[in-house]
This record gives sequence, C-alpha cells and structure tokens, in this order.
Amino acid sequence: MLQKCCRLLLVNIACAVIFTSTVFAGPFNIDMSFTPSFSSFLSETQQSVFTQAENYWENVISGYQAGIEIGSLSIMVDYSPVDGEYNRLGWGGPTNMEYQGGLALATEGIMTFDSADFERLYIEGRLLDVVIHEMAHVIGFGTLWKLNDLYVNGSYQYTGAAALAAYQAAYDASATWVPVENDGGAGTEGAHWEEDIFGNELMTGWLDLTNPVGSVTLGSFVDIGYVLNSVPAPSAFLLLGVGLLGLTGRRRKA
Ligand SMILES: [Zn+2]
Repeated sequence: MLQKCCRLLLVNIACAVIFTSTVFAGPFNIDMSFTPSFSSFLSETQQSVFTQAENYWENVISGYQAGIEIGSLSIMVDYSPVDGEYNRLGWGGPTNMEYQGGLALATEGIMTFDSADFERLYIEGRLLDVVIHEMAHVIGFGTLWKLNDLYVNGSYQYTGAAALAAYQAAYDASATWVPVENDGGAGTEGAHWEEDIFGNELMTGWLDLTNPVGSVTLGSFVDIGYVLNSVPAPSAFLLLGVGLLGLTGRRRKA
C-alpha cells in the first residue's frame, strides 16, 4: 500500500457549464522553486517532471473567479526523510493564503517528498502523479476545504456545489455530499476522496498504477475559487489521466 501524501497545514462532470460559467478574473500562475539542497540533488529530467506538473495545473486551471486577484502561487519544493520507503511519499499544502471574494485562497505553499521514496518513484515513472497530487494540495485540495465551508472535520462529507454536481452525474444522482476518506490517519483522512468509491482517482490517499484526474476533483477547484479551462465531456474525463505507465489493473489498498 502506497500512501500518497500527508496534508500540510492549516489548520486543512458532469457538466462543462459548471466550469465555464464564471467570469474570468485573472490568470492562474504557479511560481515554483526548489531548496538549494534539493535543486543540487535533482537531475535535469527529474526537474522537468516538476515542470510538467506545474504545466498540468496551469493548463487545467485558467484563472480565478470574479473578485479574486492573486498574482501567483509560490511553491517551494524540498525533500527530506519522512518515514522510510513506502507509506508516506510526500506532503503538500499552503503556507500562506488570502481571503478574497469570500474565499480562502493559497498564495504560498510547500511540497516535500520523502527522500527514501523519491528515486524509486522516478525510476518507476510514477513521480509525476505524486507531484501533481501534492501540488493539488498546495492549490487547496483537501487543505482549504474547511476554511471555505465545504467540509466539516469528522463528517467525511464534502458539500461544495461543483464537485457535488460532478459526483451526482458520475456516481450517484441522489447524493447530497461527496464521500471523503475516513481512514489512513492524519493527513490522509479528511483530505482526499474516499478510496473505496473513487478507486484509482488521483486525489484519493493512495497511489495506484494509473491515477486519472476525474470530474469531481476538477469541480472541487471551482468550489474554492478557480476557473477551469474548458474540459471535455464526462465520458472523456478518464483520458485526462496522468498515469504514464499504461498498465492495466491497479494496486488495491491492502
Ligand atoms: Zn494527498
């Protein structure tokens, strides 16, 4: 069992129309940098994985909703021993934020990767998925839900409108919340989608062989103030997956 991450911080499609109906207020830009020690450790191709992850989210998210002006989201990237091989692979979250337009938005954040797992993930071709996952936490997935009144601790019920609409369309038309992970310990529970339902989705708490980004995850970013680039029809969403291995099947939670 590979646990994807631990949340840092703070405290914490269906329908294409959902993602395009909001007034565009400013571009979304990530400004990423590495600690000196990590920078000197990384190969050029390893650094390019981080650039790919940055490009991924900058392509998915076009900007901020009306009333929000944030110049850029600064992300510092580091590595350090966390818990040996496997288990936690890294963690990420905002370290600074601003309230604008009635929402809490990340302005600075950090991602740290477990130095015991890093090279293996790279060699296995799985590093990109992990970086995209941790970057999502910096952008606000699972970390800014509570501050934005989308989630109450211990409820395991996410109630943001856009993600819920996507969940109703893709999973359960009568749902009144999106199921949130209720185990995995601190940093995993309460900050990811429920693995038992979402399976290999990127934003569950466990890394799979392929880790597609689904419509519910995309909707959750609308709920916290972002505007997304136009996205394909629901049936095409799995094609957005970032899994690079092209393998069938997936590793299940033990
Ligand atoms: Zn995570």
